[in-house]
Amino acid sequence: MIVEWPLAWTEQRAALTLEYRRRHHLATAEDLEIEPRVIVLHYTAGGSAKGTKAYFDRVTIEEGRAQLASAGRANVSSHFLVDRDGTIYRLQPETRFARHCIGLNHVAIGVENVGDEARWPLTEAQVTANIALVRHLVARFPVTHLLGHHEVMRFRAHSYYVEREPGYRNVKADPGARFMERVRGALGDLSLAGPPEQ
Ligand SMILES: [Zn+2]
Repeated sequence: MIVEWPLAWTEQRAALTLEYRRRHHLATAEDLEIEPRVIVLHYTAGGSAKGTKAYFDRVTIEEGRAQLASAGRANVSSHFLVDRDGTIYRLQPETRFARHCIGLNHVAIGVENVGDEARWPLTEAQVTANIALVRHLVARFPVTHLLGHHEVMRFRAHSYYVEREPGYRNVKADPGARFMERVRGALGDLSLAGPPEQ
């Protein structure tokens, strides 16, 4: 079951997000529409869904995140947030550009999971929920790839990957190889591609 929990959305946020899209994806972009081709799984590195939602509801990026802040004022967000008990929250339409992943936001649905690797290890219920959510999304959108956020930099040579500022990159650890293995292990029949082999 998917629970609607809409992200705070304002004209200002729409304008900042379009500005971000023009700067990083397509200078002539007129709107925030995307056609999802990739699902990117993440973890939040925090322990509560409420905390993450409140963080995403802010319109502008946290000033303390210097690299992110210098790349644009639009705040980060995701399309889905999976709580530790497996509850799936839908924060915004899958076809709206959201800032969650360098290079792929114009084709990617972002799924955040509440947790991390050490303090709040991702749960069995989250593995099960991510599997169900990927199936749900693949049935509705022309998705060809499933990636962990930590795999995205290995994906830079792919035609989907577009970043107009070549120096804008990062190194991510989420959600980790173990989690991706578990989720992919139950989705073999979908034949979703991953990143190229290293
Ligand atoms: Zn991430």
